[in-house]
Amino acid sequence: MSAAPGDHALAARLADETGRLLLDLLNDPDGPQGWALEMAGDRQAHEFLVGELGRHRPADAVLSEEGRDDRRRLDADRVWILDPLDGSSDFGVSGSWSVHVALCDRGEPAAAAVAVPAWDTTFATDPAPVPTMCRVGRRRVVVARSRGYTDGRRLAERLDAEVVAMGSAGVKAMAVVRGEVDAYVHTGGLYEWDTCAPAGVALAAGLHVSCVDGAPLRFNNARPHTPGLVISRPDFADELLEALSPVSRRPRG
Ligand SMILES: [Mg+2]
Repeated sequence: MSAAPGDHALAARLADETGRLLLDLLNDPDGPQGWALEMAGDRQAHEFLVGELGRHRPADAVLSEEGRDDRRRLDADRVWILDPLDGSSDFGVSGSWSVHVALCDRGEPAAAAVAVPAWDTTFATDPAPVPTMCRVGRRRVVVARSRGYTDGRRLAERLDAEVVAMGSAGVKAMAVVRGEVDAYVHTGGLYEWDTCAPAGVALAAGLHVSCVDGAPLRFNNARPHTPGLVISRPDFADELLEALSPVSRRPRG
């Protein structure tokens, strides 16, 4: 994978500024509330990102959760994959939302950033975050709130691990980077805008990133879908993938 000069910095700036724009919207006493706030956040963040990319990277393709899927991206090497507001149902409710900006080059994340405004932090690929690897004691694994019963129960049965749930794929992935948890597991399908920027940052930080069967993730697919995600401390990945193996391997015979 390769990024052009300035791609890392551009991804970081755009994620950071989008996070600030969203905080301003959230803190506007005359602004929209409830469902209208969520809608406004999605729209304003998308329009800002697409406008900036049109100005600074006019030749690149864009795939955004909030935009029309322009299929010309399938012929492009460089595609920006955006989730302008990940975890939008938590926007205005909790801090579990994030901004995802990733540049994908021929199927792999080349530059990426995830802004988590609740932590006042934007994680990027250069300089990459240095993961906190010093947790001791029982393993902690984060899963989606919607998958607490499936993923959470399976992991608790097969690993000596505490399973916690959080919103936003970006927040969960960056919780691994920060060392709050040892891994993030999602065995169901996700969209590429959920996974590309978190995967790019986690890879740059030296973490294990794969599908549930251990295969590497590929992006800019015709159907922009990721069939499951594991982001883990490298020294925990084998044990975790083994615990997940009945999910990913068909029984023989
Ligand atoms: Mg979104």
